[in-house]
Amino acid sequence: MRCVLENIRLVTAGNDTRATRVAIDSGRIAAWDDACPRGWPAEDGGGLLLLPGAIDPHVHFDDPGYTWREDFAHGSRAALAGGVTTVCDMPDTCVPPVTTRAALDHKVNAVLPRMHCDAAFWAGVSANAIESGDWRRGMDELWAAGVIGFKTYALSGMETFRHLEYAQLRDVLRHAAQLGALVGIHAEDAGIVAACRAAHKGATDAAAFAASRPVEAEVAAIRRVGELAGETGARIHIVHLSSASGAAEVSRLRAAGVDVTAETCPQYLAFSDEDLERLGTALKCAPVVKSAAERDGLWQALGGAVSFLATDHAPCPAREKETRTFDEAYSGMPGVELLLPFALSFGYHAGRLTLEQVASLTSGNAAQRFGLAPRKGRLDPGADADFALVDLDEKWTVSGAALRSKGQVTPFEGMTFRGRVRQTWLRGQKVFSHDSSAPARGTVVRRGGAYSFTDART
Ligand SMILES: [Zn+2]
Repeated sequence: MRCVLENIRLVTAGNDTRATRVAIDSGRIAAWDDACPRGWPAEDGGGLLLLPGAIDPHVHFDDPGYTWREDFAHGSRAALAGGVTTVCDMPDTCVPPVTTRAALDHKVNAVLPRMHCDAAFWAGVSANAIESGDWRRGMDELWAAGVIGFKTYALSGMETFRHLEYAQLRDVLRHAAQLGALVGIHAEDAGIVAACRAAHKGATDAAAFAASRPVEAEVAAIRRVGELAGETGARIHIVHLSSASGAAEVSRLRAAGVDVTAETCPQYLAFSDEDLERLGTALKCAPVVKSAAERDGLWQALGGAVSFLATDHAPCPAREKETRTFDEAYSGMPGVELLLPFALSFGYHAGRLTLEQVASLTSGNAAQRFGLAPRKGRLDPGADADFALVDLDEKWTVSGAALRSKGQVTPFEGMTFRGRVRQTWLRGQKVFSHDSSAPARGTVVRRGGAYSFTDART
């Protein structure tokens, strides 16, 4: 229950670090440095750098329902191996989709026994939900249950979770504003994409896919949804932003007083459309990667228009990537295990991010936006003792086959990363160490900091 983790380093500011130790009591941080009580059992941190346990605010663990692609057992073990202690799971790639309280209860009961990291849950509103039921009551009950927000699509490829027309989105935003709830948006304009697809009719290669989902579609959707948020007073969050132009639109909206944040993903920071031909379907995701200039501009927006990193973890078996045409391949890739190493390798070591920024972009900022702070995303006494202990200089090569996710096709295959997670601590327990992981019990994290949806009822 109690211990002192010694021989660790802590980021103080920028890239500065200092040696320290931390006392842990009942899963929470009790004290730092000289304030640590004497006589508690000691644990050796091996001189590693301690970062707040990473939060991946956007994963699709597909459970229950599409578990041939991913499930909570594999997804949450992959998370811990990557220093991610909390994931925020999406509502659309499970059966049934989480658009009602009953669906949320069904999902939580199903995945809890195989949840090895902590998880918060997104709910959602689809056209299906609007057509088939009392969606406003659904939102009321889900928000009261502690979900972090409502995912919506301006463009969706899923028959079971169809996108909203802008008029429907306005209704949803209006109701969300009354609740004070955050609305997450997949921002690609369905009209622009449909027109571009029609212009490339018959073409099924990567170039046609990229041309059918241009940067203009993202910018137009952000602008339209931003206007609706301004009109209704809703809080919005742009998921998996893929372009600097989109980030600029977010900045304009924010300057106009709209409560808007955005996240981007490693794939949009690492790759461009110039890589599509070479990497093929391993790089297929939606939105599609954009130009090199858009990619480079996204790095500049990190910490400004783009508040944090997410992975949009959405793996699939190789057979769903090895299709006849690019068009037929599944959109998505595994990501949760690479989030923090990516930020260290291509952010910190490339001189683009300080260690302090890595911590806020992979943990603190998402916790703040989604109402998981101060228990998550912080290292203050009283916060959960969730840590990633990293060897900042260890070089290693990404191998899809070594990923713990069910889906192992990654565009990062063969790339050299620098900075590796050596230990992960979840609520005061060492739950991952080197290449062995102890079976950890994850729990549900509710917005506001309670630990289970059962708590929310009392
Ligand atoms: Zn997603």
